[in-house]
Amino acid sequence: MRYTIIHRDDDFSKEFTKNLHTALRFINFEENQEHPQLIITVGGDGTMLHAIHQYIDKLKEVSFVGIHTGTLGFFTDYTCDELDEFLADILKEPTFREHPLIETKCYGDTGLRHHVYALNESRVENIIQTQLIKVYINNEFFEKFRGNGMCISAQLGSTAYNRSISGAIIDSRLQALQLTEISGIHHRHYRSLNSPLVLHFDTVITLQSESFEGAMLIYDYLNINLHQTKCIEVKLSDKIVKFATFKKVSYYNRLRSLF
Ligand code: NAP
Repeated sequence: MRYTIIHRDDDFSKEFTKNLHTALRFINFEENQEHPQLIITVGGDGTMLHAIHQYIDKLKEVSFVGIHTGTLGFFTDYTCDELDEFLADILKEPTFREHPLIETKCYGDTGLRHHVYALNESRVENIIQTQLIKVYINNEFFEKFRGNGMCISAQLGSTAYNRSISGAIIDSRLQALQLTEISGIHHRHYRSLNSPLVLHFDTVITLQSESFEGAMLIYDYLNINLHQTKCIEVKLSDKIVKFATFKKVSYYNRLRSLF
């Protein structure tokens, strides 16, 4: 098996990674950073996000498995105390949990300006001035939003930034897109839904504005300046992330570890 390890940049994760390499060599795993079959992350859910973006052009060839150096995460099935169990498990045939990435296209007057993918969420945020956004769902006008911005998350991202802005948590057996307001303005003159909206997974959400000056598109931990953007289209893509699963971890157990 060809593998690589992506680790968080702290002393414990580095030391753990060194020992993991030694143990993997012992069971005839071959390190190959360019063409791995299995990508092992050592760190947290954030480390997994970095690993996925690092291999975003090779998603068809690779699968991911995570070891958390803290508590149980949403993308990690093992904690660092379970190394022996992990080493025994990865000799078995895995099943795969598949998650589509969120695809975001940003258009300006001259056409497509940005085209990016995210696992957790894609969000527009303007912390400089009130952002006006016309929201279309499957090309049908839905509402005019005023506020800091809007967050579009998929099932896995429902427990991430979406949860910090009081979005709904989506059960791991459901595939959906969620549209959540970020600091919406609601009074006599301005009104929008003011509630998280959970949509069917094949929905296309379009955010339009005369101006996105001062706004950023933030996708997972990455960002783009929305200067000269007029229209943003967001949907679930056919780019799939595969998590190699060797044991069943209860979703409700993962959720409980959040609080
Ligand atoms: P980061 O430090 O990598 O992540 C921030 C926190 O979010 C970490 O504790 C991370 O867990 C956790 N997290 C990431 N994905 C998650 C998920 N799907 N469910 C539950 N928790 C999750 O921060 P960053 O470098 O700015 O990365 C951005 C990501 O952090 C975004 O995708 C965003 O959704 C997420 N996040 C941001 C906020 C916020 O800004 N208020 C709040 C929550 C989550 P680990 O400690 O295990 O790495």
